[in-house]
Amino acid sequence: MGARPLKHGLPVQARSPSVDMLVAPMSRLHSTLLLLVALLATGCLAPPPRIVVETPYGDVRADSQGTAVKVAVMLEELSPQVQALLPGSQVRAIDVWVQDELRVYRFNRRPESVRGFTLLSEEFHARRIHLQEDGQSSWYLSHELVHALIGESWSTLPGILEEGLADVVAQELTREQRAHIRAHRLLNATAFTGGLELELGFRIPERARREREREHTAPEETEDAGEHAQPRRGSEPDIRRRLLLRLTDEVPIETARKLLETGRGELHERWPEIPEAYYGFAWLVVARIHERVGIDGLHELCLRAAAEGHELVPAEWLLAAADMDLENFDARFVANCFTRSEFQRALLLRPEAFAEAALTGLEPLRGRVDARELFYLARPAFLLGDRGRVQLSTVGPVSEEIQARWAGRSDVVHRADGTH
Ligand SMILES: [Zn+2]
Repeated sequence: MGARPLKHGLPVQARSPSVDMLVAPMSRLHSTLLLLVALLATGCLAPPPRIVVETPYGDVRADSQGTAVKVAVMLEELSPQVQALLPGSQVRAIDVWVQDELRVYRFNRRPESVRGFTLLSEEFHARRIHLQEDGQSSWYLSHELVHALIGESWSTLPGILEEGLADVVAQELTREQRAHIRAHRLLNATAFTGGLELELGFRIPERARREREREHTAPEETEDAGEHAQPRRGSEPDIRRRLLLRLTDEVPIETARKLLETGRGELHERWPEIPEAYYGFAWLVVARIHERVGIDGLHELCLRAAAEGHELVPAEWLLAAADMDLENFDARFVANCFTRSEFQRALLLRPEAFAEAALTGLEPLRGRVDARELFYLARPAFLLGDRGRVQLSTVGPVSEEIQARWAGRSDVVHRADGTH
């Protein structure tokens, strides 16, 4: 298998769980060209890493003994688990190359954001997994194992959903990374919803309240439609503000539908570089199907679609199984998908962005409390409905960012106050 790498069309499919940069599968023309180039100069192939550790599930190669052993242990653990979890999977060995810099050819390095990919010699026949070693290798390896071991009975699955399936399998097999994977992908998915809806609650400290009352006989100018002053009850906030956190440019929702109507062969032709947002959407669809009917249920949809002569599982079947409606796929919907611990993880993934949103929400306190008072008097928290709340003071990177910037803002406000 590995000895004649260029016998087949060599569609190189970059598969990454974490990235926005992918390399398209090469067209037949490109493949032929590469074959010629390779025949002229086989020295162009990147050399295999030096150390080999053999396992019943494939050989692992790396540049150091420690890395090779570590990944071999992971492969021995994960490979049978992927086969057990993934119906219709292939029972076979797959080699893994761990590289510092991912590459198939000496001079064709992958973008740094790509952490792994699976090299196919033909559809549903993987030649090798290339993996970049880092702290999340178990996520990337289980993800790539899905691409490497998925069988032909899945051929009616839209291409992007294979990415979602790979991440769902990874989240199930690497429990320690589950919240991380889910939070990461949910944040990615917010590109389709124009952002993530947040609700910020906080108290108005007594002194600030008196000042506000003195200064404003008319309704507060900062009280917009999203702010509701409420009488204080126990630990209830005085103010609740709805905010929209935008992390990236918006992707039109029609793209989501198009993705669901694109097969695995066309995917990389249509989108030579697959943005991370698409991985987020794919993960969300598959994760919701998994929660309702399991991976087996998704596989059954693929089998039924094939039996009924569909080239791909119809998008309506998939959305119905995921209990999703693209019409209502919005910033609030995606916010409700987070559990509390996943939301906490999301704060750690993007502390600056969440701090920025919180600072916007805390505007009514500008110039009225200092940075030190902010957390223990105003007690700002993100409110998650019946899932509770997350006090900003408990999330170090977010509270540090707010404190640093609050001091700056307060200074500005004090100066401004002085001139009026
Ligand atoms: Zn992938």
